[in-house]
Amino acid sequence: MMEPVPALDLAALDQEQAAAVRAPRGPVCVLAGAGTGKTRTITHRIAHLVSAGHVKADQVLAVTFTARAAGEMRGRLRELGLGGEANQVQARTFHAAALRQLKYFWPQVVGEVPWQLIDRKFPIVAQAATKAGLSSATESVRDLLSEIEWSKASLIAPEDYPAAVAKHRREPPYDPARVAEVYLAYESLKTSADGLLLDFDDLLLHTAAALEGYPSVADEFRSRYRSFVVDEYQDVTPLQQRVLDAWLGDRDDLTVVGDANQTIYSFTGATPGYLLDFSRRFPEATVIRLERDYRSTPQVVSLANRVIGAARGRIAGTRLQLIGQRPDGPEPVFAEYDDAPAEATAVARFIKRRIEAGMPASEIAVLYRINAQSEAYEQALTELGIPYQLRGGEGFFARAEVRQAVQALRTASARDDLPEQARSGPALVTLVKAVLGPLGLTATEPAGAQARERWSSLVALMRLTEELVGHAEELDLPGLLQELRARAEARHPPTVQGVTLASLHAAKGLEWDAVFLVGLADGTLPIAHALGDNGSVSDEAALEEERRLLYVGVTRAREYLQLSWALSRGEGSRRTRRRSRFLNGLVPDDSPASRIAAPVSGATSTGIRPSCRVCAKPLIGTYATMLGRCRRCPSELDAELLAALQAWREEKALALEVREFVVFTDTTLTAIAEQLPGDDSALAAIPGIGSKKLDQYGADVLAIVASRLRSSPQNRR
Ligand code: ATP
Ligand code: MG
Repeated sequence: MMEPVPALDLAALDQEQAAAVRAPRGPVCVLAGAGTGKTRTITHRIAHLVSAGHVKADQVLAVTFTARAAGEMRGRLRELGLGGEANQVQARTFHAAALRQLKYFWPQVVGEVPWQLIDRKFPIVAQAATKAGLSSATESVRDLLSEIEWSKASLIAPEDYPAAVAKHRREPPYDPARVAEVYLAYESLKTSADGLLLDFDDLLLHTAAALEGYPSVADEFRSRYRSFVVDEYQDVTPLQQRVLDAWLGDRDDLTVVGDANQTIYSFTGATPGYLLDFSRRFPEATVIRLERDYRSTPQVVSLANRVIGAARGRIAGTRLQLIGQRPDGPEPVFAEYDDAPAEATAVARFIKRRIEAGMPASEIAVLYRINAQSEAYEQALTELGIPYQLRGGEGFFARAEVRQAVQALRTASARDDLPEQARSGPALVTLVKAVLGPLGLTATEPAGAQARERWSSLVALMRLTEELVGHAEELDLPGLLQELRARAEARHPPTVQGVTLASLHAAKGLEWDAVFLVGLADGTLPIAHALGDNGSVSDEAALEEERRLLYVGVTRAREYLQLSWALSRGEGSRRTRRRSRFLNGLVPDDSPASRIAAPVSGATSTGIRPSCRVCAKPLIGTYATMLGRCRRCPSELDAELLAALQAWREEKALALEVREFVVFTDTTLTAIAEQLPGDDSALAAIPGIGSKKLDQYGADVLAIVASRLRSSPQNRR
């Protein structure tokens, strides 16, 4: 028995949205800007088709591109009554859908040959690179892998790769003929006498091939699925389109929605061409354009219109002016800072104020161009005890290249043949540079996206060292390693209720009340390789894609939007940077953005950073901030208290079945043993102790401290 599907309330839609929802079965295309309700429209259309009896829930296949977006779609469908066992609409990523289908059809198509999904392509590509005489170093293999993935997504065979590179003006990491060799070797390494290894792209290819080449498979599939829906259709690759065509056969029950002006995945082979040509392919299609923006305030919408208004080219020609529907909100804020650490500190403080004013942390996002930018924000939020989560990337210290770099520094630190003076102060910077050099820290940015990502992480580590040395001349290698460990530890574990840190790519389709777009300097957004060496435009298409990224960023904000940049990378370095060219003409003349100082808030109004309780100098670094004193200033550590706290932590961790640092890190315990907090507010003033930890452990910790003070009153300060 089918569960009844509630009749759909079309009042929750505007006229155009309702027209798309009510359109008869057949091709429908919704071409519209950000926040106009595209995702809302398709979920309602599915609900409408089902509740009106045009199609059964389990005959609908809705696809999108990321697991997060598929989850969002399932959530919205559930709210419309399409979540029950019997009424379940399949909402999946292309890959997940293909995996299911291939598992089912494989025996009919290939019979006995076993297959296995590869979970790590990396070693196979490394082997292929070695075979072709190319480097199998991490970044080389990663770049080769990107080329293979792009080729497969674009339906380009190894022998056609060199010509395709020229046509698409790609930047291959090696001579294209050599890359093609690696690609070919990779494909043959996956086939062995014992069976086949399939990567994600093979899943899609084999699924399409099974439907194209085996009528019995096609018949069975097509009688099972009758109606197809694609969200974010501007991101479809030729390979995914081929799968979609195979699903459809000669039918046309297909609804697509997308925004060509949010095309930001061209480098993976995605193209808005299919979206823009939809009505040419299906001349009878219902085409709907939506202009009303329900997500953002008119102030945010106006900025979004101006950002994309400056775009050029075919894609830009399809844009519509968005019309904001929400009540007025604050004007977007523009802010300029001397250096990147000051920018991060200021943003963290703004965030703290928003949270104190009652905004949930989960309604706030910091968005940046590349993942390596997260480090400064992870750090700044940690220092203020604000929980966060990273989306679409690993935490800085979890990244392979950062772990490798820290390991290499540890090895260097264990060497006893380095003269003492080579280990601290400015010499430490030189030493660190020398250690990171072989890992990929070159003087100039390398070619290839993966190598660049790695390079950027190493540069971030380098700048961190410079910054720390700038604050503590006497810092040595063991001290640096201790600082890095404290930073890594303080960031465990990631929380789910925190502020979101995400790259602009990972933020697509999502929305938050407050959004901070950071690092908006030329060379970061637009990214350096979209610009020529002398700053002139090298690649119009790449530059336009960068502009669209900014548009995606701006349109994530519901209410509060801040755009910021810094004039230099490191604290005290020369101000060689300038704000993003995309902001020209957008920053109002009367905006204080030209010189915004970090806002000062309440208790720490004497300076940007908290200061040492022993010598009163500003504190730098997690370790120092947590302890509340410079690393070199004398501590008044109560060793017995520390031992008691450690024993308590061990017991707690055992009882809760978590690692000890999840309860409190070593640095936090040390800070408690030094500062002897007497009440909740003193305890909460120690960074790393947020309200959750206070609730969970506050009473225990205060009791241990109090009992220690009773037994040895000379400790009382
Ligand atoms: P993006 O291009 O960023 O993916 P979108 O076009 O898919 O955006 P949605 O996420 O569907 O937009 O909608 C944006 C916001 O506006 C959501 O919070 C949604 O619930 C709300 N919304 C959409 N349409 C309406 C409407 N007719 N009335 C009220 N709210 C709406
Ligand atoms: Mg959407």
